[in-house]
Parts: sequence; C-alpha cells; structure tokens
Amino acid sequence: MRLSKTFIKTLREAPKDETAKNGAYLIRAGYVHKEMAGVYDYLPLGLRVIDNIKTIIREELNKIGCEELSLTTLQNPEPWEKSGRFEDQEVDIWFKTELSSGGLVGLAPTHEEPVTNLMRSYISSYKDLPVKVYQFQTKFRNELRAKSGLMRGREFLMKDLYSFHRTEEDLDAFYAEVEEAYRRIFERLGIGEVTFETFASGGIFTKYSHEFQTFLPVGEDTVYYNHDKSVVLNKEVYNDEVLKDLGATGEKFEETNAAEVGNIFKLKFKYSEPLELKYIDENNEQELVYMGCYGIGVSRLMGVIAEKFADDKGLVWPDTIAPYKYHLIGIGDKGMAEAEKFYTGREDVVLFDDRDKRPGEKFADAELMGLPLRIVISDRTLADNTAEITDRKTGKNWSVNLEELFEKF
Ligand code: ATP
Ligand code: MG
Repeated sequence: MRLSKTFIKTLREAPKDETAKNGAYLIRAGYVHKEMAGVYDYLPLGLRVIDNIKTIIREELNKIGCEELSLTTLQNPEPWEKSGRFEDQEVDIWFKTELSSGGLVGLAPTHEEPVTNLMRSYISSYKDLPVKVYQFQTKFRNELRAKSGLMRGREFLMKDLYSFHRTEEDLDAFYAEVEEAYRRIFERLGIGEVTFETFASGGIFTKYSHEFQTFLPVGEDTVYYNHDKSVVLNKEVYNDEVLKDLGATGEKFEETNAAEVGNIFKLKFKYSEPLELKYIDENNEQELVYMGCYGIGVSRLMGVIAEKFADDKGLVWPDTIAPYKYHLIGIGDKGMAEAEKFYTGREDVVLFDDRDKRPGEKFADAELMGLPLRIVISDRTLADNTAEITDRKTGKNWSVNLEELFEKF
C-alpha cells in the first residue's frame, strides 16, 4: 500500500465521543471509521487485521474438522418463536424490521436457532453425525452501553461454531478439541499469555460454561484468579460452593478486569428439543441431537489487541495480525528512489510512506499505525549503504546493509 495513493488519513485527534483507547487509536490511525456508537466501518488497514484474525481462526478450526458456511443476517422469526427467544431478553435486544409483504423479521443477534433449523434438512440418521459448522458473520445487538470502542459493538463480527453429536461422549470429546484449538488461536494472535480459560455461569447440563478472558484493565468483566492462574473464575460464579467444587477452597484469589474474547457451551438439547432436531439410531429409534456452540469475538479481538498493546505513541500490532509487516519510509530523492525499488515486488507486506511530507510527520504516523518494523532509507543511510530498522514494540533500532535488506526482508 502506498500512502500517497490511499484515501485514508491519520488524524491528530479522535472524535470527542470516542472515549475508549482502542477506538480512538484505531480511528486516528485510519483503521476504522466510526459510523455511530458501537458501529464502525473497517477501512483497508482495519480490514486486513480482521482478515488476518479470521485466517488464524479458520486454519485452526479446519484442522479439527470444521466446515465453513455463511448463514443469513435476516431472520425468520419462526425458529426463534419455537425456542422462545424472539421475545426474550436473554438475547440482547433485537433489531427488528418489517417486510413489505407484512410481518416482522429480525437482524441476527446470534445463530443457534437458524442453524438448528437448517440441520433438520441434513441430519436424519446416526450416519449423518457428527456435524461441525462455523461462520464469520455480522451480528446485530441493541447493546445498552456501546462505549468500549470495537470491544462492544451494536454491529459486530463474530465467529460462531456449532456442533451436532449422537452422544454426550462425542460432544465432550469435541468440546475438548475446541478448547485446544482456542488455546492455539489465542497463542497465534499474540495474547496466549494473557488469555485464560475461565469458569462462568450459563452451563445447561454442566454446571459451568467456559469463557476465554483476556486480562485487561478496561475489560468489562471481573474475574478472580489464584497465584498460578490455573483457576480463573468469572465473578458470577465466584462463591464458596463453586470453589469447593473446583477443590480451591482456602486458596487466595485476586481480582482483575478482563475482556471475554470467546466462550464455549455444551448446549445438550437446549435447541434441538424445541426445534425437534432428531436422528434415527441403529435400532430405528428417534433421538435428540446433542449440541455445542462456540463463539469468538472477531472485531472485539481487534479492539482488545489494540487496547492491550498500544503505548502512548499509538498502536502496536503482533506480527501475526499486523496489516503489513514493514512500514517503509523514503527520505530525500535518493532515499525515495531506493525505497521505491524495495517496495516493488513486496507490495503485499510493505506499507510505503511515499508522501511528500516532513520526516517527523512520517515517523509519528509510523508509530501511530503500529506495524512491527519500520524501515527508513534516506540519503544519509545511503551514504554508508544501509537502511535503518526500528522495532515498534521495543523501540530498538539498528542498521542493515542494503544487500542484506533486499535479500532477507
Ligand atoms: P458479553 O457478555 O460480552 O456481552 P456474550 O456472552 O453476550 O458477551 P456471546 O453471545 O456468547 O457473548 O457471543 C460470543 C462472543 O462474541 C463473545 O465471547 C464476545 O467475544 C463476542 N461479543 C459478544 N457481544 C459482543 C459485542 N456487543 N460486540 C463485540 N463482540 C461481542
Ligand atoms: Mg452480551
């Protein structure tokens, strides 16, 4: 990407109503545009971050045998009426709209009902099970408080996975595979060391569900952890009974804030029963299908990661999801010509600041945008046949020979 050719611009200041650090930096650095509270457009850089997050999730889910599909945003009320959730407050308040032919439709806040309903057309025999399907999809929720930037949207991107099984054992085994896949995903996203599987309420036939909580001072959740963080509990289940269950009575716990980046649930028959999703077993008996559901907040992750690693100069992206690897700055005529050569053929990994601007301004923008490595080629560095590299995270800088730069970078 050439900064001289893109329409995006960095901003000195974020809009006054954007109080969250992640939202403010993402807007200022040109990653997103704010449409209204909790509703953001992804600009080219932001979209690349979202796509990188998706790619990591997709690779890990495909590894455990999941299939990707895409369900609709417009929702037929019927399946939701069967589960009682079309009028229910359990789902964050629906956005609903009217069809020209009459009758209401909803904008999907989640997809348990439609995917269960859809599977009625494809699952009829034990031979059809298990099924594991996921999607990346825009959800709509009329959230009361949308003040956390990308971390709480009214329109947001979720990865949702649904699994369908014959037996509880098969569901349990797959659930454990998803736990492992989630660990690998958060590891690859650069937040493995600060993200913990957490006991939470909301279990259907198990006592708990599990959340994946990233420790973060501005996170909206409160969690409790013991010294080695092997037991982490959401505040909602932090009580004597649960501590006893987990063999943690008498242990010391500390409180911290965290952001929920994912969660996993064993649903059992919660939706297959009201929606009558059944299969015929070997003995010709009809049985209900066991279900599980597994979410990850894709756009929330962009906000959480921005928030977690940003410093007072701007964003700091982990290598694995940065929109480009190198932020290339050419200074002076010769410097610019050499930078131009370096850019050619590396367009997919280099953001090239080829604008006619003062070096100071280019450096400040590089820090704001937060790409892993800054490369400066100037008339001065060319005098000793080098380029200057700066690591955004550590601030360390060093020189490399031009030959080495062209060969290794
Ligand atoms: P929360 O308690 O934060 O409202 P939730 O329990 O409503 O989350 P789910 O409905 O299970 O969340 O959604 C799955 C995942 O989607 C969550 O783990 C979270 O990462 C993400 N998510 C939920 N609501 C939002 C939102 N309003 N904006 C962005 N991401 C969200
Ligand atoms: Mg919610």
